[in-house]
Amino acid sequence: MKGLLKGLGVTLKSMTAKKITTSYPDEPFVMPDRFRGIQHFIPDQCIVCNQCARVCPTECITLTGKPNPDPEKKGKVIETFDINFEICILCDLCTEVCPTEAIVMTNNFELASYSRDDLYMDINWLDSNNKNVRKDNNNIGAPQAGKGGAKKDV
Ligand code: SF4
Ligand code: SF4
Repeated sequence: MKGLLKGLGVTLKSMTAKKITTSYPDEPFVMPDRFRGIQHFIPDQCIVCNQCARVCPTECITLTGKPNPDPEKKGKVIETFDINFEICILCDLCTEVCPTEAIVMTNNFELASYSRDDLYMDINWLDSNNKNVRKDNNNIGAPQAGKGGAKKDV
């Protein structure tokens, strides 16, 4: 009898406790601020320095640039920028080295697909992946501090 009452007590307690389950995917799951999710890429801020591709441990970034069509401006502009999310490990290194914050992490994580081909994301897709940008990077689009750009807190 004592065991039965004890069991009922546990049941009643859990019935009134705050729910920790969510109705995902009906309700979006909000990830923590420091979550490293799928990158957002801002073409206008890229100076085609290639540092992100060089530092990437899985070599999943490919990019090409072309000379700036504006004769008054030096340097290059980005032409293509692709990330292969089959092998990207979302390690954050590409965003850490980027001097202009042209590539930043978001809190987005949904990449599931039936086809591997769908995991190759191009410049337009990465540009449009602009929701839930990580709070650390909420100054994106702001003027950069000097040639090297604004330095992020690590
Ligand atoms: S997050 Fe890491 S693995 Fe993915 S593209 Fe950036 S550097 Fe490469
Ligand atoms: S590190 Fe930044 S600026 Fe340099 S190529 Fe990559 S995204 Fe562009």
